[in-house]
Amino acid sequence: MTTENRIEALRQEVRAWLESNVPTGWREAMTNVEQDAFVAAQRDWFVKLSTAGYATPHWPQGWLGGGRSLAEQKVIFEEVARADAPRLILYFVALYHAACTLFECGTDQQREKYLDGILQGKIWCQGFSEPNAGSDLASLRTKAERRGDRYVINGQKIWSTMAQYADYCLLLVRTDNSGPPQAGLTYLLLDMKTKGVSVRPISQITGDDEFAEIFFDDVEVAVEDRVGEEGAGWAVAQATLASERGLTLVELTQRMRYALPMLVQSMRQNGCEHDPVVHRDLGKLIANVDAACALADQYLMKRIMGDEQVGDASIVKLFYAKTLREFAALGVRIGGLQAQYYSGFMRGATQETGHWTLDFMNSYNWSIAGGSNEVQRNIISERMLGMPREPKSWQLAEGKA
Ligand SMILES: Cc1cc2nc3c(=O)[nH]c(=O)nc-3n(C[C@H](O)[C@H](O)[C@H](O)COP(=O)(O)OP(=O)(O)OC[C@H]3O[C@@H](n4cnc5c(N)ncnc54)[C@H](O)[C@@H]3O)c2cc1C
Repeated sequence: MTTENRIEALRQEVRAWLESNVPTGWREAMTNVEQDAFVAAQRDWFVKLSTAGYATPHWPQGWLGGGRSLAEQKVIFEEVARADAPRLILYFVALYHAACTLFECGTDQQREKYLDGILQGKIWCQGFSEPNAGSDLASLRTKAERRGDRYVINGQKIWSTMAQYADYCLLLVRTDNSGPPQAGLTYLLLDMKTKGVSVRPISQITGDDEFAEIFFDDVEVAVEDRVGEEGAGWAVAQATLASERGLTLVELTQRMRYALPMLVQSMRQNGCEHDPVVHRDLGKLIANVDAACALADQYLMKRIMGDEQVGDASIVKLFYAKTLREFAALGVRIGGLQAQYYSGFMRGATQETGHWTLDFMNSYNWSIAGGSNEVQRNIISERMLGMPREPKSWQLAEGKA
């Protein structure tokens, strides 16, 4: 069988499986519900998808569902989007960030200890950002002090997605203050049940509490749960951040494309199908959605060919975030009075629900998560186009700018 035929056969197989397995009414099952119901719905979908091998196509050969090429992974993501299947928001950090970091930078002992747990549904969160260290992540201050075979941690993390449900955390801490900020960071794997860890969910304007703060009060982590060497945490964190390799953007842009008819339906329901201004804006949006899909595809193709340039991912992310905002804003505009009425919230920051006010609020997530729009623009201008670099605060403080 040629590669093309194999890819097409996989597409048909995944499509058929999704047609029979996507839970009907899953959005309703996640709307206005308590956390337990949300977790149960996510878990059911995780078990189905992972048992079929479609949750772990990026894992190496020999692991359930693993050993798929990037092109095959892309097909799975596209089909999941086409079928409007639930996003595995509760398991994403485990399946991608944690697993890929362990495959790339972990020890055999760590892989043995944690990977089976991920397949069995253990939830992970990412503890990188702090109240004064987000865009400038290297300035983080949560301190880990080595005492014998343990690190003792004190400090605070914030914006940790789904931390209140998490069994484990990917934790970036400071072990040294003496050199450049990146050089003093160390990467640890933390059991969230360890004494001294407390989690406080953050209530959002949407009604959800998808993030949490994590506090550390003399929390002990064994040295064997350090990933990479002490002081090498920055490089490990880069592996974590690169772990989904553009696939998410393929899925998300496709989801937007398949949701376009929802806007047309809203337009008809609210009697603005003959409004020339709405037509113009919808036409422009459709063109932008197409462009976002094409950019995401092109980016993944570059990765497949080993041809990625610095800044490529930033262009796709920036364009997606902008288009998603326009998509939801148009929904609010043409959705009539009903669109202004906020009847409830859906857990998991889902997009394209057709509850336009909720979608509009959630669309802001993508302007910040994974590097804000402004930071993406900096990367494009400084690192891609070679424009003058903005000095970091520590460089200014040390007179190195
Ligand atoms: C949906 C979502 C999920 C997230 N999940 C996680 C998670 O699981 N774990 C985790 O650790 N973190 C998570 N975060 C946090 C995220 O990484 C940070 O919010 C992000 O890095 C920005 O940091 P900040 O919020 O501290 O904002 P700041 O860095 O303080 O930025 C504030 C504003 O200043 C702008 N700005 C900052 N620096 C520059 C600059 N150099 N040039 C121009 N403008 C600049 C920013 O663009 C922004 O508009 C999540 C955030 C979101 C929205």
